[in-house]
Amino acid sequence: MKVETLTVDLVVKNGRLVYPRGVVDGGIAIDGGVIVTVAKTPNLPDADVVIDAGGKTVLPGVLDGHPHTSSPPEDPSTGTMAAAHGGITTILDMPGIQVGVFSPDQFEKKRELYESTSYVDFALHGACASGYPEGTLTGMWELGATGVKFFISSAGPGWPQTFDGEVLERFRELASVDGLALIHAENDQILRDNLKRLRDAGRRDYAAHLEWRPPIAEIESGRRVIYYLKEAGARGLIVHTSLPETVWNARRASLEGATIHIETCPQYLYLTEEDVKRRGPWVKFAPPARSRETVAEMWRLLQGGWIDTVASDHAPYSREAKEAGLEDMLAAPNGIPGLETILPLMLTGVNEGRLSIERLAAVMSENPARIYGIYPRKGALLPGSDGDIVIVDMKKRKRIRNDELLTACGWSPYEGLEVTGAPVHTVIRGDIVLEEGEVVGREGLGTFIRRLSP
Ligand SMILES: [Zn+2]
Repeated sequence: MKVETLTVDLVVKNGRLVYPRGVVDGGIAIDGGVIVTVAKTPNLPDADVVIDAGGKTVLPGVLDGHPHTSSPPEDPSTGTMAAAHGGITTILDMPGIQVGVFSPDQFEKKRELYESTSYVDFALHGACASGYPEGTLTGMWELGATGVKFFISSAGPGWPQTFDGEVLERFRELASVDGLALIHAENDQILRDNLKRLRDAGRRDYAAHLEWRPPIAEIESGRRVIYYLKEAGARGLIVHTSLPETVWNARRASLEGATIHIETCPQYLYLTEEDVKRRGPWVKFAPPARSRETVAEMWRLLQGGWIDTVASDHAPYSREAKEAGLEDMLAAPNGIPGLETILPLMLTGVNEGRLSIERLAAVMSENPARIYGIYPRKGALLPGSDGDIVIVDMKKRKRIRNDELLTACGWSPYEGLEVTGAPVHTVIRGDIVLEEGEVVGREGLGTFIRRLSP
């Protein structure tokens, strides 16, 4: 009798598999795009392709819940290629104005565009702008949107501003489908008044950016948003949180039965007000970088489980656009690229003892997958999950170099910074996308990840 041995598509052996609740030695077998086995290396099946991790760390697929990959000079192809280069396996793309996601119709167009261009798997967040009829957000939610982005302050030209009454109404609409609101929380009136005062005083210096957007504007707006979410019964995630006060306010509301999640970004863990004063537009983003003490506290809140997730807020403005801020800081756009640096920076945080590798797997894989309703398809090294893995070399030291980046903007606020820890191989649904740090995947390999729940 002939015994058929099972041969799977791909096996990763000799890894340190990271779970939010512990690290175990072993490997993963992937077949038909899905994880079929997690086992000690000797017990893994034969495979067409075998990757020997050689004792390196194996993370579940890494998510970025907040890149803007169609913001010029980026397009979906360069933006998602940068994501692949950064070791990201799934992006949850944030709306911009170039590829609008203000209606179900636009949502479908964006999905089609990314299906033909994306290097990595993608989910899409919709956007709430003023003037769209009731049912617009519900329509996008039903098409599988993973969240709906709101601005409490002005989003800028091309994005009709929603004021408090409309925000509250749209939170109620989302609550009716158990939707998730993603909120940029800064107090609009404080920002407007500060900007006028600074302009009237002829301020063009780098510190003007910090005075424009002080902590009180973020704290007050965050509190108000939390109050509206509670009132509406809607789930919310406050994006790019820079301050511990907002984290505590969200946690307090959670104790009272609300569901409020907190996202922060590497720029609130690595950059400070001193950097803004010294380097101006290259570290200009909103909310702005905060004090050294605040940054230290944000790390503690991240490690302690009080902050749910870390995302890039990749906003790849061109050098030319940013250079406007060298003469007049207030004139430069707010935003920095981050897709290719987020994982190395967070791995550096692990190496420096500020974050455990288990917490990293929680805040960059499992938590965002759960919050956005795509767990356990994404964010888990478990049988039945998509065959997404990220092998990282925790010891690899390198300097971040502008000329090594694939983002179309071609610069990084971290140029010259030494990081320790880098993604070396990634696999998306069984396909190798990053090999020895080089992108070997292709346009259109990425697939649309529809929200599974609720
Ligand atoms: Zn953003």
